[in-house]
Amino acid sequence: MLGVGLLSAALAEQGAPHAVVDANLDFLRFIESGRWGHSGSFAPFLPAHAHNASQYLTGYRQQQQMLRLLGKAFPRYGFAPYQVTYHGEWPDLRRVAATALEPDGVWRQWVAAGSVVQGILRHQPDWVGLSVNFDGQLPAALVLGQRLREEGVTVIWGGGLLNAFAQQLTEQTPIWHSADGAMLGAGESLVTSLEKVRGRVSLPGARVLSNGCWIASGVAQEQARRPNFDAFPLGDYRAAGRVLPYRVFSRCQWRKCAFCADARYHFHADRLDGNPELVAEDLHALAVTYGADGVYFLDAELPAAFMVGLAGALQSRQANLRWGGNSRISRRLADPTVASQLYSGGCRFLRFGLESASDAVLRGMCKGTTAEMAGRVLRSVAEAGMGVHVYLMHGFPGEQVADVRQTVDFLFENLRNIDGFNFSEFALYEESPIARAADPDDIARTAAPDFWSHPEYRQRGEGGVDDKDIEERFYTRKKQIKCFPTMADSILLSERYSLSFAD
Ligand code: SF4
Repeated sequence: MLGVGLLSAALAEQGAPHAVVDANLDFLRFIESGRWGHSGSFAPFLPAHAHNASQYLTGYRQQQQMLRLLGKAFPRYGFAPYQVTYHGEWPDLRRVAATALEPDGVWRQWVAAGSVVQGILRHQPDWVGLSVNFDGQLPAALVLGQRLREEGVTVIWGGGLLNAFAQQLTEQTPIWHSADGAMLGAGESLVTSLEKVRGRVSLPGARVLSNGCWIASGVAQEQARRPNFDAFPLGDYRAAGRVLPYRVFSRCQWRKCAFCADARYHFHADRLDGNPELVAEDLHALAVTYGADGVYFLDAELPAAFMVGLAGALQSRQANLRWGGNSRISRRLADPTVASQLYSGGCRFLRFGLESASDAVLRGMCKGTTAEMAGRVLRSVAEAGMGVHVYLMHGFPGEQVADVRQTVDFLFENLRNIDGFNFSEFALYEESPIARAADPDDIARTAAPDFWSHPEYRQRGEGGVDDKDIEERFYTRKKQIKCFPTMADSILLSERYSLSFAD
């Protein structure tokens, strides 16, 4: 949403007419309609209509039930049971494309149902940009792109997922039946230069592939634009209220973690030089313009000093905005006074890359934190009233099973202060410090399943470290959390009611 808001700002500056359509690449509306083969339709889950945790949970559970039915109807796609996520990822793109384009596949049914394509074509566009940000959106983007091209529309792909795999994008990449061009980096710096020549839209200076498609890269901008949401269907989003995305910093200030490739994504300068006073003024004005209740920051890391400044500046403006985002475990946040300043200034939800509770692993990762410090930070933030989510990782090179167990133990010992978590497997990202230092033979071996993770990892039951099993045990013991299925809901609802798992 932020990337499209920036594109829209660039087009609006040029006076270029354009429309923003929510293509709903996770096709939730289509699933609710029952048109995929279910005899009845489902009531949509609208978090804004829930008045308490029980109503929220009822709606959410109905949505989960609907997804389970979809999963049963299309078992070969392996939909994840708790969200509309298809199990297929960019590195496996050839299989994803073959599956998405199956004539009787659910994605073909979604496009054939018509409303998305018609909603786009009624604007008679010369070109359509598709913002593809998650693996789960790939099949829908492939089918929709192909369908729009059949209608003579130029289709341009962009978005976070494309940028994450930018270096793998070649003419062999199986997206070109669904895209005419790809924009990498800051699309807003390119979009105003698009040209229509003999019925096809392209970008002068882009690298043209032998199949006639093109790839263009946006250069870094001197200053980040203010996003423009004028053309957005803001009233249609499913959240507990209106929450706008925003980003301040071009990249994380720490930039040392061995597994992280964040340092290479810096398409903009810091917004308003990262000055919390100016950012507060900008956010307040945006919130008034769009009737927003909250803001979620897409920054890789909101530094503690910035958050404290922002909280103070919002409070002195009586902006009454709720906000949240990613931060980093740092000594300053362990101070309960600092945590309560954040809460008073509107902060309601923070996510931390805890990764591991083994100090040996944390050192290997160059996280610059310890398990002891993490425990203190999580406690002060949670006790001040904010929701807390932690990212955990297993399989980092050199990690032993005992280290993973230490992390799992930490999770349960800090159950009161952690509202949600996800436990992902280490992945070797291009350009991360560890990838740059790795032996090419090791990199080749990452294609082998379980190369990085331990065979014992999958062990289920008490004392085991299977991620699904941990999740089940965590939420069974947790009973109540302030963390909701989306960031926007977490920011807006955590103070209204905590979500109970008791029933
Ligand atoms: S993992 Fe987080 S804290 Fe570490 S370098 Fe990346 S963005 Fe920064």
